[in-house]
Amino acid sequence: MTDARHACRKNSFHTDVTALGNLTHKVVGYSHVTKNQERSSQKHETYGTEKLYEDFERKGIKVKVHSHDRNASVSKYLSQNQPDVIDSYDTWHGAKEVRRNMAKITKGTRKNIGKTWHPELRDKSAGVKTHVYWAMKNCNGNAAQLVFLLDSIVDHYKQDHRNCHQTSRCKNNDYVPHTRHHSGSNSRSCCYE
Ligand SMILES: [Zn+2]
Repeated sequence: MTDARHACRKNSFHTDVTALGNLTHKVVGYSHVTKNQERSSQKHETYGTEKLYEDFERKGIKVKVHSHDRNASVSKYLSQNQPDVIDSYDTWHGAKEVRRNMAKITKGTRKNIGKTWHPELRDKSAGVKTHVYWAMKNCNGNAAQLVFLLDSIVDHYKQDHRNCHQTSRCKNNDYVPHTRHHSGSNSRSCCYE
């Protein structure tokens, strides 16, 4: 897994690209890119990735799957220069995107209530993000299972927990939701976090 961190110090833009082993979570590679090496900061992550692969080659590290932050240039580099490496996007950034994209329907102006967003969704994006992350980890790489686990989010918030996982807190009889549930006239606000 690689990720880039960009920083600016005394006008010299520089980037760290770090590689972690998927199972060990230990650093297996690190490269530091400065503006002197590559003028365009947009290209820093790819430049750093290339340097990482040169380092891997020297150390005899074989990469099987490379997951990264959905960087199109890194994907292009991998397909052109590392044909044996499987290119993938990491789940952490994937789940983060869910929350960012949900913002369109969880907040907005008063005038657009019920048109572009709904207040009932306001407190759901953090929970949805956590569940999406969990679903990606627990679907065993099976697309149909992933869809099933994601679909259960909507049922869960409608207080239908039949498809929720047996380890989920809502499977307990004394479960009290932390978010607001609105189910017709019986709607009752539960405890707020
Ligand atoms: Zn549930």
